[in-house]
Amino acid sequence: MQDLTRRSFVISAAAAGAAFGLDGPLEIFGSAAHAQGSNPIGAPQALVDQGFAKFKVGSIEVIQVYDGHWEKAHDPGFIRNASLDDVKAATTKAGLTDAFVPISFTVTLVRIGGRTIMFDSSTGGQLAPTAGRLVAKNLAAAGVQTGDISTIIVTHYHADHIWGLMAKETNAQLYPNAEIIVPEPEHKHWTAPELVEKVPEGARGNIRRIQATLPTWKNLRPAAVGTEVTSGVRSIATHGHTPGHTSYVVSAGSDTLIVSGDVTNIPPLNLSNPGWHVIFDANPALAEEGRRKLMDQAIADKSVVTGYHWGLPGAGTIRKDGSGYVLVPVSV
Ligand SMILES: [Zn+2]
Repeated sequence: MQDLTRRSFVISAAAAGAAFGLDGPLEIFGSAAHAQGSNPIGAPQALVDQGFAKFKVGSIEVIQVYDGHWEKAHDPGFIRNASLDDVKAATTKAGLTDAFVPISFTVTLVRIGGRTIMFDSSTGGQLAPTAGRLVAKNLAAAGVQTGDISTIIVTHYHADHIWGLMAKETNAQLYPNAEIIVPEPEHKHWTAPELVEKVPEGARGNIRRIQATLPTWKNLRPAAVGTEVTSGVRSIATHGHTPGHTSYVVSAGSDTLIVSGDVTNIPPLNLSNPGWHVIFDANPALAEEGRRKLMDQAIADKSVVTGYHWGLPGAGTIRKDGSGYVLVPVSV
């Protein structure tokens, strides 16, 4: 399993996210933090040590729990239409290391209407050796007991988003009492029996694991995209990263939080350069179209947006910056 685990992650796991530098309000995430050798994702060290960040969007209570990061080795094919030098220049400009791509994993939870809803589930400590902190300690550190979580909503089926639902050796459910809501087209794609044979051997580990688990779980519910999947949460199609990748809008009155998932990789890469096509995007053109549309919508609506690979805090408002976008992190 270990070989498959590692290999399937390299081939198929999603990507994205850390923190950024650039100018003005982003400075704390950039060179200053990194120059102190604090942490490779450029986040405030106190937050990383604490393991979570909390903030509010109107009456929506948001808790972001840090799972860790992946030191992805440089690979000239990582961005299909940008060079390795361009990638290194982008992370350097953001105050991040150029020794590897520091890809963080941050899970977003919201408390609305007395319910605790978690979006995606972390790596479960089964991918990069520098991840796994959500299950190990950070969820509890944030004051959330697993039994408190009534609903888990999934953006897509890459390993770094769903393996935290299942125990390492046994695949037993870690949240058997929660309702798990998944995008219908994503579920259909990954559970098709013929899919295993269609992909290279190295990409089959995650597919086999999905097919051995998720369809058998009685508490899992595929939901149509473009609908209210549970009270206060609407799904929006952002297909492209994977065939059924889906984002969510959490609403309470006029306040909205967009949980984007993997619409972008780490912000210095394809949030700053929305036309960059990360190797993990299954349909790069569709992914780019969805990325631009979602970010333009977030700017128009002044929404707070979260990204699974956006560091800690992994949320903020978006503004236009030349031909790209910039994340202005929330205050925590
Ligand atoms: Zn991902």
